[in-house]
Amino acid sequence: MSLAENIAQVQANIAAAALEVGRDPSEITLAAATKTQSTETIRAAIAAGITVCGENRVQEMTAHLEDNAYQGAELHFIGHLQTNKVKYVVGRVALIQSVGSQHLLNAIEAQAAKLDLVQDILLEVNIGGEESKSGIPPQELPALAVLAAEAPHLRLRGLMAIPPVARTPGGNRPFFTQMEQLFVDIRTSMGDNRSHINCLSIGMSGDYTDAVRAGATIVRVGTALFGPRPPMTRKA
Ligand SMILES: *Cc1c(COP(=O)(O)O)cnc(C)c1O
Repeated sequence: MSLAENIAQVQANIAAAALEVGRDPSEITLAAATKTQSTETIRAAIAAGITVCGENRVQEMTAHLEDNAYQGAELHFIGHLQTNKVKYVVGRVALIQSVGSQHLLNAIEAQAAKLDLVQDILLEVNIGGEESKSGIPPQELPALAVLAAEAPHLRLRGLMAIPPVARTPGGNRPFFTQMEQLFVDIRTSMGDNRSHINCLSIGMSGDYTDAVRAGATIVRVGTALFGPRPPMTRKA
């Protein structure tokens, strides 16, 4: 299948899953995970209807930005972000989805203050409790959400998670359900400030329909759109 056909298929699957649970399909954004893809492929995806691109690597993203690769789409950062690279990301992307520590949150706040702008962020939750993964342990989330909401140059938009690799189809449903509950809890705790907290970014190629049924508002899909990825070392 062509890229355009894959995009149409994934969008149709998202819409069907939404309708199954009585959700409006327009509430859900398909973010294309564009890591390792060429500028040409990114442009073709946007021409075929992709409205959000999610990038993992600062260097790749910077090169694509210089090429104007994302023109016509919104850019999100979804990968692990080191504090020394924050300056290449803050103010250049609409949303940093992967804020998984207080250290990183502080660094983004400082850079946004320096640039005199407000950076939209999601807090990344380590929902599987995996030691190898970044992200905030669920029990530390309420305190960090308060810090994020109070930071003058940050706007907390919601939560993101990358659950463990599922061993069986549907294996991540319990994690998605937990994320939906954390999302509801954060919204509730924010009271009057919750109107901006409307993003729950869960679900990838193998499980995005489960994520939509569980309440995802953003799914991050790579392989199901672009096919298997070339090795990460390849220069874009
Ligand atoms: C690569 C990536 C995805 C998409 O993964 P696929 O399984 O290829 O759909 C989603 N989220 C993040 C953070 C990623 O790095």
